[in-house]
Amino acid sequence: SVANIGVVGLAVMGSNLARNLASREGNTVAIFNRSHDKTDHLVQAHPEAGFVPAATYEEFAASLTKPRTAIIMVKAGAGTDAVIDALVDVFEPGDIIVDGGNALFTDTIRREKAVRETGINFVGAGISGGEEGALLGPSIMPGGSDESWVTLGPILKSIAAVAEGEPCVTHVGHDGAGHFVKMVHNGIEYADMQLIAEAYDLIRRGTGKTPAEIADVFAEWNRGELESYLIEITAEVLRQVDAETGKPLVDVILDQAGAKGTGAWTVQTALNLGVPVSGIAEAVFARSLSSHPEQREVSGDLPGPVEGLTVTDPDAFIEDVRLALYASKIVAYSQGFDEIRAGAAEYDWNIDLGAVSKIWRGGCIIRAQFLNRIADAYGQTPDLPVLLTAPYFVEALGRAQGSWRRIVQTAAGAGIPAPAFSSSLSYYDGLRAERLPAALVQGQRDFFGAHTYKRIDKPGTFHTLWSGDRTEIEAEDTH
Ligand code: NDP
Repeated sequence: SVANIGVVGLAVMGSNLARNLASREGNTVAIFNRSHDKTDHLVQAHPEAGFVPAATYEEFAASLTKPRTAIIMVKAGAGTDAVIDALVDVFEPGDIIVDGGNALFTDTIRREKAVRETGINFVGAGISGGEEGALLGPSIMPGGSDESWVTLGPILKSIAAVAEGEPCVTHVGHDGAGHFVKMVHNGIEYADMQLIAEAYDLIRRGTGKTPAEIADVFAEWNRGELESYLIEITAEVLRQVDAETGKPLVDVILDQAGAKGTGAWTVQTALNLGVPVSGIAEAVFARSLSSHPEQREVSGDLPGPVEGLTVTDPDAFIEDVRLALYASKIVAYSQGFDEIRAGAAEYDWNIDLGAVSKIWRGGCIIRAQFLNRIADAYGQTPDLPVLLTAPYFVEALGRAQGSWRRIVQTAAGAGIPAPAFSSSLSYYDGLRAERLPAALVQGQRDFFGAHTYKRIDKPGTFHTLWSGDRTEIEAEDTH
């Protein structure tokens, strides 16, 4: 046995991750793929990597030094279960199986429990950064036991992206914590992308600028507080010209956004936890709305406002859009971190939120300067109940809110959909409100279902005899 780490699954992600591992000092990488031709191909294409190929799971296990450590990069779902079963058969207690695919965290919890029975460690690790990240340095979000982190930590640190001198990997928490955090990362990514798309749409409709001119706006924004990978690639996409038609590529791409499910998982999980991730939810729903051509076709004649969008000062308008984007982005991240906090409480994970924001500064899709501010906020107040109430964000929101409100008003007035901008603002105002109409909702619930209510002026639980003489009685707390 010569290899200190193995990779199972040699499609795009697995082969790039294997090459990344092999390129780091001290690593010798064993590789295995169900269909052997992929293994042969990778060995031939990259002799410099010094891969140790295996034709069977037995051979793969025999090629690894103990504790054996293998990263699985196969199709999420049944493929992952099949590979885990095969590895459990050939591994021994103390060995480590890592699932680097996009697993649902509840599957990871289930798998960790089952594998633990055999004495083998199972680690669900979220890996973000796509193909390029896998090859050059991803952001890695591992869960699993403390024992497995001892062996795995140095290996993952060797291949992770580096941001400001620190590797973008941390032991997030036990069992499913890593995949949970990766899921929320993707949810935030959906919100970020939708907010950028709304900003582009408003600027285009409001100023008549061409996509290439709007690319310049984004490139400019990328030099300020919005600096991020997604803003950077937005400029690239907007600048791209279609070779066939000579039009901006964005004008020939069908306007129906796809999704692979992690955004929906983030929202489903948030619903179960009772966490309002409205910005992320609107982003997921906006993709759904776009992808129903049959509904959009029959809805094209629905009446809209008489007045269109008239912008008198394009530069001021663009600055308003920038600030609306920034404020909404703060909300989306705040909601995402709120979900992680709630998940940690529910599943008993000890997650350092500041450390999570730091490992997202490099390698992953939402990488941005902005994450340093989040790390600072949690550094100052680790148990901050609402991220956006940190002083830095309060200042930024104070600076942005006038613009934010103008943009939401303008969009509504002109009939331009801005679901993520406007729902983020409603969330913000909901948090700020001294009294919410939830009091009325409680009254309604008590009326039709005797669900009871609490009073502002004395302890206890109360019910009004709505169908009787409407006097109030003290009631059992039925929640
Ligand atoms: P795919 O998701 O396309 O999966 C293909 C690989 O899975 C092949 O190696 C295939 O083997 C193997 N496989 C499928 N079923 C089985 C099985 N029953 N037993 C053994 N092997 C099986 O590969 P990707 O490289 O695109 O993605 C790998 C993982 O990484 C996925 O979980 C995906 O969700 C995740 N991913 C993450 C990204 C990110 O940015 N973090 C981006 C893309 C993917 P064979 O060659 O024999 O068919």
